[in-house]
Amino acid sequence: MPADRSGAAWRKADLKGRIAGGESLSDQPTKPDSRGPQPQAVKHWGFAGLLFTYRCPAACASCYVCSGPASEGDMSVEEGLAWWEGLGRACPRGCRIHIGGGEPFVRWEALIELCRRARAAGLGPLEAVETNAFWAEDAALVADRLRQLDQGGLGRLTISADPYHQQFVPIQRPRLAADVAQRVLGPQRVRVRWRDWLAEGFDLIDATPQRRQAVFTQYLARRRDRLTGRASAQLADLLELKPADAFADETCAESLLRSRHVHVDGEGFICPGACAGILLGRATTSQSLTDTWNDLARRHRTMEVIGPLATSGPVGLLRQAEQLGYVRRAGYAGKCHLCHCVRRWLFENGHFPRGLGPAAVYRD
Ligand code: SF4
Ligand code: SF4
Repeated sequence: MPADRSGAAWRKADLKGRIAGGESLSDQPTKPDSRGPQPQAVKHWGFAGLLFTYRCPAACASCYVCSGPASEGDMSVEEGLAWWEGLGRACPRGCRIHIGGGEPFVRWEALIELCRRARAAGLGPLEAVETNAFWAEDAALVADRLRQLDQGGLGRLTISADPYHQQFVPIQRPRLAADVAQRVLGPQRVRVRWRDWLAEGFDLIDATPQRRQAVFTQYLARRRDRLTGRASAQLADLLELKPADAFADETCAESLLRSRHVHVDGEGFICPGACAGILLGRATTSQSLTDTWNDLARRHRTMEVIGPLATSGPVGLLRQAEQLGYVRRAGYAGKCHLCHCVRRWLFENGHFPRGLGPAAVYRD
């Protein structure tokens, strides 16, 4: 296990200094390429999710960060403020922040404190808070929390609802949360993923494994789910599998380098928004988010994991893994399933420690 994955070296005192303006954040733009104008291989980030905790009362089969009740890793309020501020500096056109996890409402008091303090500090807009609505047992409680979030600068509430969530969360809770949110915030400020399921769906808490598998298989046909994280182990084999070489033409530069969307956890690990477990870099007390973006822009072609995936896709990474001893499966459900299987093997065997992490997303 690489030593730097634990984040034990993180020092909260330094973070307080950063928020107070005491850090030496480099805000310099990348130097112009001496060969003249080039297409921008790495886009500046513009949307960022703060992974406020890896904990969650649910353990959805689709969870891309493998969250669950026993997951560990909280972002402190101080860390949240530091990353929020740092993202604003690292993004020349500003950064819209959303707060997710894990399930951020398991830390309600810390969540509302982060929102209030970010607003008071004049940090960038809070675009959304994401939730599975497990806490929405009572309309008055939901209304009270949403009003507090509204005053804390909330743009939109995003509610998760699909068969995987309803294995753990009774569907009346996201329904109640959505109803109350539409009243308190207005319909334009409520997003449900997915509304069709919220309308037609049902609980799978007491379903037999066979019934649950049948519903999941039917739902997977909609192709809404990226088969990484826990979905790689629990859902992918419900789909048609193809040999790895069927994905040989698929590269990943857009998802990794040009989507403008990243996630940052409490320890400063930065992943592409859609590709949990692949490290774009790690911000620390001595390396700001701006430094991290500049480093990525300079070195992405030669970086572990990012380099082969961006240029040759998961089959490129597979070939590297095979040289290290990985044995390919007979089939994969898609390029992201292939990618995750290979990455997980690499992680578990200690390869490419600077390209794979954080550990929480490979622990399941
Ligand atoms: S998908 Fe969301 S609700 Fe489900 S386990 Fe992951 S964080 Fe929790
Ligand atoms: S194959 Fe891997 S890098 Fe490419 S989009 Fe899927 S998860 Fe991301």
